[in-house]
Amino acid sequence: MQLLRSLAISTRLAVQTPWRRRQVQRLCELGQAPMSVLFYHRVADEQPNPWTISNGEFERHVDYCRENFELISLEEVQQRLDSGHSPRPSVTFTFDDGYSENCNFALPLLIRHKIPCTYFVTTENVRDGHPFEHDLRLKCPLPINTIEQLKAAADGGIEIGLHTANHVDFNQVRTVEKLNEEIVEAKDNLEAMINGPVRYLAVPFGLPQQMRPAVIETARKCGLKGICSAYGAYNLIGDDSFHIRRFHGDPQFNRLRNWLTYDDRKNRRRPILPDQDVLDMDPEIADTVRLPECVFS
Ligand SMILES: [Zn+2]
Repeated sequence: MQLLRSLAISTRLAVQTPWRRRQVQRLCELGQAPMSVLFYHRVADEQPNPWTISNGEFERHVDYCRENFELISLEEVQQRLDSGHSPRPSVTFTFDDGYSENCNFALPLLIRHKIPCTYFVTTENVRDGHPFEHDLRLKCPLPINTIEQLKAAADGGIEIGLHTANHVDFNQVRTVEKLNEEIVEAKDNLEAMINGPVRYLAVPFGLPQQMRPAVIETARKCGLKGICSAYGAYNLIGDDSFHIRRFHGDPQFNRLRNWLTYDDRKNRRRPILPDQDVLDMDPEIADTVRLPECVFS
């Protein structure tokens, strides 16, 4: 099945590459080049799982991106969105969760090449070293980053960002208290842990149903500079710069290449974010508020 899928992507790429090149060239001339922000979780050769990519494969991604794109920070993505000018296609690296093994190969590689990267961690897992629930469910607990590792990464130029206190699913949060605990207090705690500023939040799961107005507003009010989703979209001139859209740095190289070379099916399938929030609403009314379905390509 995976082989068939990979073959289909290769065929699409072979057929569409000349046309895509012209399309991206035209967008560059208009100063509207697409900005792609990737998120990874874990880079390691042992204990592979769906959110792990091997060291060799990650290096292949990095080499491909260095050769073909401008590599920029989240701050630069926002500046380009705000200025309305994006002259070249760009890629930004980010990581979610905070797996210890990333400090063995992935982060040193990025630091060595001076590639901007924002590294999002879940504060309470860092604090007590407790493995993630999603790893425990697979009966494969994996080591979490320590505070010392995060400080060392920050010293090397990696920006540390927030991935909430407890890897919460915001779709399930119904009170202001919980929202504040997961964003406002967690930001303060992380700043104290690393002894430095925290500017960005990556929303766990990052689907449209988690990108709720109350989440975005809480992040804005507590002084964060931006908030990242993960449902798979480009950042395009005209988008609100506070919400940075990301897609998966997929282990399948062909899929990554397909997305990075501007597959405009992603634009046609862009989800609409909820404009109503269910925070502190009567539960009966909250149940009637329809949140949009997520569409993946
Ligand atoms: Zn996560």
